[in-house]
Amino acid sequence: MEKQQFKAESKRLLDLMINSIYTHREIFLREIISNASDAMDKLAYTALTDDQVGISREDLAITITRDEKNRTITVSDNGIGMSREEMEENLGTICKSGSLNFKQNMEKKEEIDIIGQFGVGFYSAFMVASSVTVISKKYGEDTAWKWVSDGADGYTVEQAQRDAAGTDVIMTLKEDTEDEENSRFLQEYELRNLIRKYSDYIRYPIRMEVSKSRKKADSSEDQPEYENYTELETLNSMVPLWQRNKKDVAEEAYHSFYREKFFDYNKPARTIHFSAEGTVSFKALLYIPGKAPYDFYTKEAKRGLQLYSSGVMIMETCEDLLSEHFRFVRGVVDSQDLSLNISREMLQHDRQLTIIAKNIEKKIKAELTAMLENDRESYETFYEAFGRQLKYGAVANYGAHKASVQDLLLFWSHTQGKLISLKEYVEAMAEDQEKIYFVPGESRERLAKLPQVETLKKRGFDVLLFTDDVDEFVPQSLMTYMEKSFCNATSEDLGLRSEEEKRELDAKTEELKGFLTFVKETLGEQVKEVRLSADLGSYPVAMVPDAGMSFEMEKYMKRVDPQFAFPVGRILELNPEHEAVKALQNAMTEDPLKAKDYAQLLCCQAQLMADLPLEDPAAYTELVCKLMK
Ligand code: ADP
Repeated sequence: MEKQQFKAESKRLLDLMINSIYTHREIFLREIISNASDAMDKLAYTALTDDQVGISREDLAITITRDEKNRTITVSDNGIGMSREEMEENLGTICKSGSLNFKQNMEKKEEIDIIGQFGVGFYSAFMVASSVTVISKKYGEDTAWKWVSDGADGYTVEQAQRDAAGTDVIMTLKEDTEDEENSRFLQEYELRNLIRKYSDYIRYPIRMEVSKSRKKADSSEDQPEYENYTELETLNSMVPLWQRNKKDVAEEAYHSFYREKFFDYNKPARTIHFSAEGTVSFKALLYIPGKAPYDFYTKEAKRGLQLYSSGVMIMETCEDLLSEHFRFVRGVVDSQDLSLNISREMLQHDRQLTIIAKNIEKKIKAELTAMLENDRESYETFYEAFGRQLKYGAVANYGAHKASVQDLLLFWSHTQGKLISLKEYVEAMAEDQEKIYFVPGESRERLAKLPQVETLKKRGFDVLLFTDDVDEFVPQSLMTYMEKSFCNATSEDLGLRSEEEKRELDAKTEELKGFLTFVKETLGEQVKEVRLSADLGSYPVAMVPDAGMSFEMEKYMKRVDPQFAFPVGRILELNPEHEAVKALQNAMTEDPLKAKDYAQLLCCQAQLMADLPLEDPAAYTELVCKLMK
């Protein structure tokens, strides 16, 4: 019999299949099963208008047969079947529209990704099989046909025997090699797992003879004897949870689904089950986990939702469905509207996925907002686990996504002694308060003792205590919140002085010019500048960073990226009203040597207050002892 050649594009794809070092070879089963399911859909549809069909939906099933000796797996269906012409047309060609061309320009790696995600149907069988035989009888015809191909060489078609309409796809597995263990696809448990993983929600039963063991009927209770037998078992659960009506699903069912699907034994904090109709219809079942996985804040952590199309899993983690700031969400999305045909442009997926992703984004935000407003305790637990991710989200890409997350952020309120949202901060602001004050540092206890915090508190102004590395970047990215600007109370002008008061301070500075120069010269390179401040309350001195910077940022950079760490300029602020500063002033004229020691001492104090390490703690101790004598 003469071999027919595959059409050009088909041949190219076939080569790709056969030669790919493709790691997800296992998806071939999903593809073949999906075809069987489609064929049964077609027959069921025909039955609606043709009462000759004589087969009801309940009779439709897929059967999988393994033959270890001959190394074959057979997937059989009693669907619509194919005529000879259809076999030639459908199995001899793929991508009838010919737009496979676009793939030609792609890197091999990307091609492989497409196969993994969206499949290329029937041809994927050649990833694992050295030869594929299709026996099919079209519904309504008398003759069955057999199509055989061992890959690149082409195929043959001849007449065959088959009782009823339907199709058998018989795959003879390739020999095992070092990299490809094809025999695994002959194992019962492997096939069972693959069906569970990829085809669990196919709407028709997928059956396979499975081996079982039972107690022999005539064996005694104390000395039971067992016998092996086989039984045709349905391996898929057919109706996915997300396709069911919300009111018919018990909370426990949602939770056990979550547990089994995502291997998380902690109860999810929230379950979001919804469907959307419109340009793209889809159903989604999403979970906000109760706890962060141990590797959540590492590079290894993946983000994404499982993507299904009509019950068939096409992607384990579809990144495009979930934004980075909500990447803690786990779940499943199912849409019939996704075109899985590789012959259509990938762009199309992108557009559909974008619509779904937008919808999902809105839902998650609404759920978190509701939790924040109505169930604060749960929200705080959630925030403890994933708050940092939300803050990263506010900061990432120069704040591109800040609108989605800014209302969801919490920070520690100094006056209220608890976590509050920015909205709550602004709403509680004093009438004459213009700015949102914050101070960055390592611990709340230390921050609470900063002179600036004390000064603000006296004015009745709250201060947010920032103790997370990322916190300080948030104001930089938000710029304003509810039209209020942010103020780093340790480095920026608190804005509390009237013009009059400012003029007074300027005059004082002018008056004490010589004194300030003396202190600066004494301290030399240790400080960039010495100046007066009227914001220090009961404290004599403070060390503040040069404009726009902060000491916390300096420490942070040193930790994460020492190469790019930069020293932040230190500015020593003196409180002219304080006794210690006055003492220094007097010493300058009476005993300049002592005055130098005083200046040094106050500089060290300022450093300690700002949580900065002393360069030379021994010298400091010596100095204190000297002055005590
Ligand atoms: P796709 O399913 O994306 O169209 P495939 O390469 O998987 O691409 O299949 C090509 C065509 O072959 C199908 O569209 C269908 O018409 C036909 N076909 C494949 N498997 C079967 C089957 N089990 N029963 C009937 N027709 C089938």
